[in-house]
Amino acid sequence: MEATTFVLFGATGDLARRKIYPALYNLFLDRKLSHSFSVVGLGRRELGDEAFQAMVEKSIRDFSRREVNPSASVRSFLKAFQYNVLEVGNAEDYLKLLQRVEQLEAGKGSTPNRMFYLSVGPEFFEPIALNIKESGLGAAKGWKRLVIEKPFGHDLPSAQKLNLKLSEAFSEEEIYRIDHYLGKPMVQELDVFQQTNPVLHALWNNRYIANVQITAAETVGVEERAGYYDHVGALRDMFQNHMLQLLMMLAIRLPKDSSADEVRFKKKEVMESLEPLEEGNIGSEVIRGQYTAGVIKGKPVPGYLAEPGIPAGSVNDTFIAARLQIDDPFWKGVPFYIRTGKRMKEKSTRIVIEFKEPLKQVSSAEGEDIPNLLVFEISPNEGITLQLKARDPQHKGKFKAMHIDFHTSSIEIPEAYENLIHDALRGDPSFFAHWNEVELSWKWVQPILNAFAENTVPLHTYAAGSHGPAESDQLLARDGHHWWLDAAGEADEEAGEVAMRDAANF
Ligand code: NAP
Repeated sequence: MEATTFVLFGATGDLARRKIYPALYNLFLDRKLSHSFSVVGLGRRELGDEAFQAMVEKSIRDFSRREVNPSASVRSFLKAFQYNVLEVGNAEDYLKLLQRVEQLEAGKGSTPNRMFYLSVGPEFFEPIALNIKESGLGAAKGWKRLVIEKPFGHDLPSAQKLNLKLSEAFSEEEIYRIDHYLGKPMVQELDVFQQTNPVLHALWNNRYIANVQITAAETVGVEERAGYYDHVGALRDMFQNHMLQLLMMLAIRLPKDSSADEVRFKKKEVMESLEPLEEGNIGSEVIRGQYTAGVIKGKPVPGYLAEPGIPAGSVNDTFIAARLQIDDPFWKGVPFYIRTGKRMKEKSTRIVIEFKEPLKQVSSAEGEDIPNLLVFEISPNEGITLQLKARDPQHKGKFKAMHIDFHTSSIEIPEAYENLIHDALRGDPSFFAHWNEVELSWKWVQPILNAFAENTVPLHTYAAGSHGPAESDQLLARDGHHWWLDAAGEADEEAGEVAMRDAANF
């Protein structure tokens, strides 16, 4: 690892404390940071280096996946952290920052590199990038990189404008757009798993796959983010970025040992093959939902309109389900069903692949309708389950589900931010969103945003603690499919094994 100065805008914020410092600490424990690694934290509030280091120490004690031992190694980790006051719009503050960075670099033998991490609100991305350029901070002797958090734009025109502005200061190769779902270990496994297993590689197409279901369900509501969320909704907050990225990662077919460029090229191809939605079919292919009062884990919770800070009569979407089609030789005819929502029954992100059963007999034998499924559990648990339909040896003529399970223990697995920060430091952009993907995603989503703005798509309601509006089940039912649920939690308690259950019986 080369000598690098990590310049962190938003160093006193929530994301830095909950994710970035714990990630850096775990990279440090794994010896994945250079000996000449230093962090300059930036924020408006006045802090000395020592107070900043104390804040970083508290954050790693509170949030690191691995224990923080009170040893010399923690002190040597914290020594890398310094703090500067910086107001985003103040050009002088960037000159002071440049001086500080140059002082730090002076003591380092090798060519110094600079990584600028923007953990601040999106309204600051453009002024920060331009000030980096104008102050001379961008003239690093080694490489320079810009790591940028979501959201990348509010719609297609704003994303295009932002990209144009950023490109005045950084080239596309220097911009690392974080979509933290791409850092999740199970998502990073998707293409490798398919490439390196001939059985799956052979089945990964429309001849054998009946449909793909991608779910990201949260149990939380809007919490303290009402003001932000009511202007964004599930479509912008989750669907345009995380959900479409999961679809791309699942649908790409890559040769073994592909380069980052190949990964990004194939993802772009998937997005280009996605059949566009138009005014006439958005209403039938997209389900918009908003939660009403309900019960989650035995506790009553208010509906969206009763949440503090939500304006009366808001028609914001807290749930989206959609049916997507990829028009390429591998996936033509395979529906991809995607859904995401707040205040759902369980917290779970997963991908379920349902296989076709061409030899299926039409019979009334018990268990005849058990599907063959491959399930990738992405979070909060990580694992892969293969469900196979098998004859029930105890009951002749009946079928039962057989499960092959692999689950990992979360403490041993690097967090998404660890993977992503490490990749950005190494200069590997495979798991970052390229501008082509971001732009194509906004292009695909824009007609839906327009239809929502014009209120031409019905807003369905669903009770908090449910699986979303009934209309999202109908989206699949008309193709003869239904959502498959991984009821790991409940089934574990009851039967001690992971079971798949039909949504209708759940
Ligand atoms: P936050 O807790 O509100 O922190 C904002 C940071 O920006 C603070 O360090 C604040 O410093 C700094 N800041 C605000 N105004 C500034 C200004 N005018 N000049 C200089 N610094 C300024 O926000 P966050 O939750 O950490 O989120 C940061 C970014 O990450 C946002 O773009 C958000 O959308 C994105 N994100 C967050 C999460 C998450 O889990 N939190 C997840 C995904 C993406 P002072 O307080 O010292 O002024």
